[in-house]
Amino acid sequence: MKEIREGIYLIDSEAFGQRNLIASYLIKGRKASALIDPGFPSSAKGIIEKLKTKGISISEIDYLILTHFHIDHSGASGAFVKENPEIKILVHKRSSYYVKNFAKIVGGAQMVFRKELVKGFGRADTVPPENVVSLNDGDEIDLGDRVLKVIHTPGHSPDNICILDWKEGALFTGDLACLQYPDLNHVYIPAGSPPLFELNDEKASLSVLENLQVEEILTPHFGPAGVTVREFIDRSMNAIDETREKIKDMFREGLEFQHMIERLRADIIRASGRPEEEIPGFLRDVYLREMLKAGLMGFLAFMLEYAPYPRGFTVQKTGQRSRLDGDRGIAGHHIILDGHPARLRGDHHASPSR
Ligand SMILES: [Zn+2]
Repeated sequence: MKEIREGIYLIDSEAFGQRNLIASYLIKGRKASALIDPGFPSSAKGIIEKLKTKGISISEIDYLILTHFHIDHSGASGAFVKENPEIKILVHKRSSYYVKNFAKIVGGAQMVFRKELVKGFGRADTVPPENVVSLNDGDEIDLGDRVLKVIHTPGHSPDNICILDWKEGALFTGDLACLQYPDLNHVYIPAGSPPLFELNDEKASLSVLENLQVEEILTPHFGPAGVTVREFIDRSMNAIDETREKIKDMFREGLEFQHMIERLRADIIRASGRPEEEIPGFLRDVYLREMLKAGLMGFLAFMLEYAPYPRGFTVQKTGQRSRLDGDRGIAGHHIILDGHPARLRGDHHASPSR
């Protein structure tokens, strides 16, 4: 647990026992304290321990702020309520229903990610509905000596919010736009996600940041971005556009889903400039593939104008065994829509060659 700016602490939630994948942030105010994104269910214990070693008791945490409902951000909520029944869970109004009915969030994650990874999420406690508070764009959370402003930034998910700490000029982005892991030299990886990724919203949300006075961008995946807002926006926009073009090309080539992931992965590792053997094995071999799978599902759902994903898709088995065998995704399948090869949004000539 590290103080990044006055009263702002980064807590590595050590998801899957790994460092530098998922960050939580504690903001300690004079009157109240807030924890942003408590992480997976399995991370609750570790985070509470880390708080303790800094002399902070769970009873001193007044708010859990969820930047969005995804389980890697919200999963530990129920466990925190168990330890501190007074804690309020703040989430954008678009998804407070899901947080109150947490089994739906767990079910969604199980549809996307491979079994072994899901095991590592841990078992989520339910969240008592009376602890959940719905947020709106422009809401302010008063911590005494500082006020946190809620900025609705849909795209990655319809409920994603950024939190701006006026006092420190710190912006907590949630999963807006891109992932950038220190172990991959901060290469920007677009954070698509099925089934509700909205690429146009994502870009509009990025533009909203332009006018904010921000000195520090703090991401969950992972840590301080270390760039200006302008750079963050530009790099994110470029990564989104490039990825979209790459997917279009791969689609035209007739590449299968799993092969698309492998190509995107190879490009990212190359762009990081790091030799493969220097990248932590779990990130390199498992986590990056799973993140790219979710991202690609999100992009395809958007580009094919066919959300929600994967319901509505008919998939044909290619008979080819992929490296992610046993996966719940669509590895080793062609995507077929209504009996026809899928077409991309805004591209009437594209069709898979096989
Ligand atoms: Zn997310």
